[in-house]
Amino acid sequence: MMLNKILIANRGEIALRVIRACREMGVASVAVHSTADSDAMHVRMADEAICIGPPPSNQSYLHVPSIISACEISGADAIHPGYGFLSENAAFVQVVEDHGITFIGPSAEHIRMMGDKITAKDTMKALGVPCVPGSDGGVPDYETAKTVAEQIGYPVIIKATAGGGGRGMKLARSAAELETAFRTARAEGKAAFGNDEVYIEKYLSTPRHIEVQVFGDGKGNAVHLGERDCSLQRRHQKVLEEAPGPSITPELRARIGKTCADAVAKIGYRGAGTIEFLYENGEFYFIEMNTRLQVEHPVTEAIFGVDLVREQIRVASHLPLSFTQDDLHLNGHAIEVRINAEKLPNFTPCPGRVATYHAPGGLGVRMDSALYSGYTIPPYYDSLIAKLIVHGRDRPEALARLNRALGELIIDGVDSSVPLFRALLAEPDVQNGTYDIHWLESFLAQTLTP
Ligand code: ADP
Repeated sequence: MMLNKILIANRGEIALRVIRACREMGVASVAVHSTADSDAMHVRMADEAICIGPPPSNQSYLHVPSIISACEISGADAIHPGYGFLSENAAFVQVVEDHGITFIGPSAEHIRMMGDKITAKDTMKALGVPCVPGSDGGVPDYETAKTVAEQIGYPVIIKATAGGGGRGMKLARSAAELETAFRTARAEGKAAFGNDEVYIEKYLSTPRHIEVQVFGDGKGNAVHLGERDCSLQRRHQKVLEEAPGPSITPELRARIGKTCADAVAKIGYRGAGTIEFLYENGEFYFIEMNTRLQVEHPVTEAIFGVDLVREQIRVASHLPLSFTQDDLHLNGHAIEVRINAEKLPNFTPCPGRVATYHAPGGLGVRMDSALYSGYTIPPYYDSLIAKLIVHGRDRPEALARLNRALGELIIDGVDSSVPLFRALLAEPDVQNGTYDIHWLESFLAQTLTP
């Protein structure tokens, strides 16, 4: 039975994204917001809106009692968490379900399983998914770390099992760097996530970041929707994503896609998920699984012509997916750029008033943004202000369309990362799709150093 009313525990473009799916499905939507977001677009666009607290996230968008109260006041029967905030918080899912509210996402158990990177890796290995060579589980002390690192060979990377967002991860190029890397990764894990357990992996020198979109119905069936290449990263944060991956052949896609779909089917996974790999010399190496909708999901929607949020809502309503693996055919090429309110060359956040906003349009252009002319970007949250997604019949057409659309975009009043994308589009490696996960950092070091 279809859900009636969905509360969106998020803000910005992703809140709008979910409201749009609700509206097309005839499902009512409830926005929640902090006092800093009273004028935000998601508040205007939802059927109802409830203020849940002051500006800091831990008193509003992360404040579980206020969100549960908002559900009860509005009569919402489900919560969509978006990405970030509470989307991968197993304890939150438990509270939601204990209140008889549907969580639109996987079970608390699967979120917990994949949120701990050592458990995730062990699980994936057991399910036949290829992993990065490394320690067998956690590494308790420096002496053990030394032995393991010598066995797998330098360079190695030390990772906090609870890590995320690029934090709690340290590179050791040689034995001389191991002790500092080991202790720093532990300390970061402890400080940022309250967990100092770490593990060791072989450091891959020139991989690409390739991630596979999967979708499970929670009843043992699952499909894959190909891959995305998200290798263009700054400080382990994705900047531009594309699908399909320029380096992935149809045979590779079918093989890794099936491995991933079979793995999540076997554990009875429910909803959208992303299995992330490093890809080097024709081999895939699992690094982590994200148990939520991702920022970059629109490139997959573009090439497969499906609405992933709609499917999330269907599965949460105990309805089957609206497609099978055989129904899914990849069409053309899509690219997304993440536009942040940031000032180059240092990427300093620069919130403020957007005097004029004009979104690009035309064939194959999608702009996911909560901006409007006269809107003031508050300083309390993530600096992502827009995602521009273009779709073309092939990669060159998508690149030309991206360049054209960036030219039409007007965001006056605040600095944004748009000039970076104009510069990237002029680079032969970007034009040819020949870049690895380090390419952007070295490009920035060469071109943006004052
Ligand atoms: P997080 O959860 O913090 O995002 P991930 O495990 O997903 O951490 O890794 C983030 C990024 O760090 C990857 O996209 C890649 O750029 C780099 N990375 C992670 N593991 C390795 C590795 N074994 N070798 C080389 N680079 C790695």
